[in-house]
Amino acid sequence: EKQPLSDIEIAQNSELLPIQQIAEKLGLTEEDLEYYGKYKAKISYEKIKELQSNKDGKLILVTSINPTPAGEGKSTVTVGLGDALTKLGKKTVIALREPSLGPTMGIKGGATGGGRAQVLPMEDINLHFTGDLHAITTANNALAALLDNHIHHGNTLNIDQRRVVWKRAVDLNDRALRQVIVGLGGPGQGVPREDGFDITVASEIMAVLCLATDLEDLKRRLSRMVVAHDIDKKPVTVRDLGVQGALALLLKDALKPNLVQTIEHTPAIIHGGPFANIAHGCNSIMATKTAAKMGDFVVTESGFGADLGAEKFLHIKARNSGIQPDAVVIVATIRALKMHGGVPKNELTHENIMALEKGLENLKKHTETITKFGLPFVVAINKFSADTDSEISLLKKWCGKHDIPVALTEVWEKGGEGGVGLAEKVLQEIEANNGQFKYLYDISSPLDEKIRTIVREVYGGKDVEFSVKAMKQLKEFEELGWGALPVCMAKTQYSLSDDPSKLGRPENFIIHVRELKPKLGAGFIVALTGEMMTMPGLPKQPAANRMDVSDQGRAVGLF
Ligand code: ADP
Repeated sequence: EKQPLSDIEIAQNSELLPIQQIAEKLGLTEEDLEYYGKYKAKISYEKIKELQSNKDGKLILVTSINPTPAGEGKSTVTVGLGDALTKLGKKTVIALREPSLGPTMGIKGGATGGGRAQVLPMEDINLHFTGDLHAITTANNALAALLDNHIHHGNTLNIDQRRVVWKRAVDLNDRALRQVIVGLGGPGQGVPREDGFDITVASEIMAVLCLATDLEDLKRRLSRMVVAHDIDKKPVTVRDLGVQGALALLLKDALKPNLVQTIEHTPAIIHGGPFANIAHGCNSIMATKTAAKMGDFVVTESGFGADLGAEKFLHIKARNSGIQPDAVVIVATIRALKMHGGVPKNELTHENIMALEKGLENLKKHTETITKFGLPFVVAINKFSADTDSEISLLKKWCGKHDIPVALTEVWEKGGEGGVGLAEKVLQEIEANNGQFKYLYDISSPLDEKIRTIVREVYGGKDVEFSVKAMKQLKEFEELGWGALPVCMAKTQYSLSDDPSKLGRPENFIIHVRELKPKLGAGFIVALTGEMMTMPGLPKQPAANRMDVSDQGRAVGLF
């Protein structure tokens, strides 16, 4: 049997249009673009400002069930839905996150969709793209260097070097860097202290870049970031160090959204990429807003399942930007539902009606959550070739019984054509949306209340338990006046609970909050649950082992 083409082979066989031609579809001229080669461009600040007076297009947020190693294909469906809307004659812009090299070299390979539903040039986007992540890494590490330099040269801010919270960053999975000691080697080499590295996508600077509305707002947010505590335990910020200007300067181009195209030439803006388990999980506000000013429809995604990415999109990104989705798409696959129903990964190609039925409870929970937010949704079944007719018909029947709008999508196999049914259903839901969107927590309620609400309403858990440290921090943060900020939960993506092995729809569980982290630049408080770490490790067989480059400089094995 003939092997189907891999994602990268399909991508490399596709014809790209010069980026000017994609820009033209959106009314952008040469003047509005800053080219990064032939197929990538940043959109200028002048143009973004000029677009502000335009009306916003309709926003579609793509989310999913809890991911499993079987793969759900959220990015694939996001791209395919964008192409399908374009096919239906709608002026559509896709807004996605930038991939991080951590998962690319680790388990995932690429993160630019799959099959016939991909964004291009996929090799560039998956590797260094337009350098935004490198700029963020550099700004992050410049701040770390400036902070250590301040301590070295007399420490007039009285920073307690045991209470530095700002870590260094690198955009790779590198567990050996989680905890390090810097400044060794005597008085000439700085002041020794314990330090550590986060992956760049977990850096607060990534969150700041994604939530900033312009350069001025970026600078304001950077200046608020807490970097350490002084000997009286008072927070020390970037403003105290006086380096917000330098950091903003390092980020001046990274803040501009990047324009690319899909295989079918739908415009796509790819910008900013925090993870949804350890950060807020959404592409930048600049990107989504700019897309909404140019397109009549915007398709965007948030990371992982609706318990993480979508919750944070709605409570953090929407609140910060005033952007609200008009409809939500919840992606599921029969394979992943069977895994939630207890089937091991190597048996997913066998029909298993009972496991599918059991696994549907995970999907059910996410549909209930989106309904609580008052948003209409469509369930998109991302079809895999091993899905059987009986499985598909069971799923459709189940959706019918629960009054859940559902569409089978074949965008991976067929591109936009395979997503027309989904697009039509989404358009119907947008039409019927009666503007009932609401937040699940009141922003002025105390931090522990907000966390409890997320645990109960979004995860379906019983309660939340705070460690002694977290309890102390709750009190401290309220006293410092940080209690009115939203919460950014750091939780495993695999389960609704904080235990990655609990699939399906666990009940009566307790979420354990170990520690809180103030991210005043981003404007939220991170709550670390379970074993979550802000620097991932590589698996035993990293995706990097399959990668290569040809003599002509073409990527091999990036999925
Ligand atoms: P997610 O966004 O949920 O992480 P992606 O869209 O990145 O998932 O897809 C992950 C991988 O699964 C990609 O390599 C993609 O080609 C593959 N994939 C997605 N949908 C399908 C499908 N329907 N059939 C086969 N492979 C698929």
